Amino acid sequence: MEFKKNDTVTLYIEDMGHDGEGIGKADGYTLFVKDTVIGDKVEARIMKMKKNYGYARLMKVLEPSKDRVQPRCPAARACGGCQLQFLSYEKQLEFKKNKVKGNLKRIGGFENICIEQVIGMEEPWRYRNKAQFPVGKNKDGEIITGFYAGRTHSIISNKNCYLGTEVNEQILEEVLVYMKENHIEPYDEVSGTGLVRHVLIRCGFKTGEIMVCLVLNGDALPKAEKLTARLQEIPGMTSITFNVNKKRNNVILGDKIVKLWGQDYISDYIGEVQYRISPLSFYQVNPVQTEKLYNTALEYAGLTGKEIVWDLYCGIGTISLFLAQKAKQVYGVEIVPAAIADAKKNAERNGIANAEFYVGKAEDVLPKKYEEEGVSADVIVVDPPRKGCDEALLETMLKMNPERIVYVSCDSATLARDLKRLCAEKYEVKRVAVCDMFPQGVHVETCVLLQRRTM
Ligand code: SAH
Repeated sequence: MEFKKNDTVTLYIEDMGHDGEGIGKADGYTLFVKDTVIGDKVEARIMKMKKNYGYARLMKVLEPSKDRVQPRCPAARACGGCQLQFLSYEKQLEFKKNKVKGNLKRIGGFENICIEQVIGMEEPWRYRNKAQFPVGKNKDGEIITGFYAGRTHSIISNKNCYLGTEVNEQILEEVLVYMKENHIEPYDEVSGTGLVRHVLIRCGFKTGEIMVCLVLNGDALPKAEKLTARLQEIPGMTSITFNVNKKRNNVILGDKIVKLWGQDYISDYIGEVQYRISPLSFYQVNPVQTEKLYNTALEYAGLTGKEIVWDLYCGIGTISLFLAQKAKQVYGVEIVPAAIADAKKNAERNGIANAEFYVGKAEDVLPKKYEEEGVSADVIVVDPPRKGCDEALLETMLKMNPERIVYVSCDSATLARDLKRLCAEKYEVKRVAVCDMFPQGVHVETCVLLQRRTM
């Protein structure tokens, strides 16, 4: 191959990789080019070369693909947040559907799976209810907030991310003015000095409640009343707190929360169920799509009110509480104790008495309960992290022999692997839906219904 690093090549983008990069060939050599889409003819500079493929940087779009769109965000290329802003939303959904289909076929061996539904967003912007903006200084020493440039920690000034709510910009402006007027220094990662590290903002989409939490490298916020006076004026403001994080690492939040004004939590609803959200609680970031996904899981579970349901990897019990409304009894299992504490409180607050929760690894708790207590299930729901279900769990699920299994997955590769195991003898894939929880990004959620075969 006659190319070398820094060469400029012309190529036609004919495919897209799992991370949304365009893929094309220059004289038979495969190049991955970020920010390009299928159908683009581009000029790109080779940045990194491996034996069989390399990475190139988009220099110029020579002929745009018919599916290329103007990104809404001016920082789309530099920011590490979005990968697909250059692609029309319709094609983003197609990309996600094909990704799931491809994995089910390649890894699971499922040849003719019909994905019956791709659940997209009507408005694929401003869907995030949570944002964490780093605070720092630009080259001129001015205090800024925005986003980390892809794979780095240099901050690109941007207060108006199109994935977040519009009120974010106003909140950030108030914080910056307060910092400048009161000589509050932003945190400097290199020296470990300065005070304000991040601004965390969360919004209850159904309640309209807003939370602002400043993450501090210190135990107090000087002249805090000047900040709270400003922020209180914003309609919906419900909670103003600070979080203490003096550690020199990349974890955003520390353990301690101090209330400055209002409550130390906000509330929101998924369906009819109310959740209390503190700065530290886990809560799905796209509430609109979460509700659609869980409604799909509920539909697939086919509950009539008589069923015993196990919800494994239950987190704060969102799916469990959703299902409890239609089931006889729901049992949730989750590894994080704080999440289970939230799940129990959420059940109580909503008057849901038929949901019980256990802390532990799903692959320990379920086999133990099954072997020692002989627990049973009519329906099992799993929503594991990206690595998928543990083998020991799948074995127990097969032994328990529920009528239906609903598999909610954030990684279609491990989903395909696990479905292959579950379908080897007993189950068959009945229904598959793909839900777009992260428009403009590459991640995709899948919901699958497995039905026990009639022998
Ligand atoms: N359904 C949940 C979110 C599931 S995300 C909700 O809607 O809130 C996956 C969850 O699995 C996380 O909460 C994670 O803490 C948990 N988890 C990871 N490994 C686990 C294991 N081995 N056993 C049980 N839970 C686990």
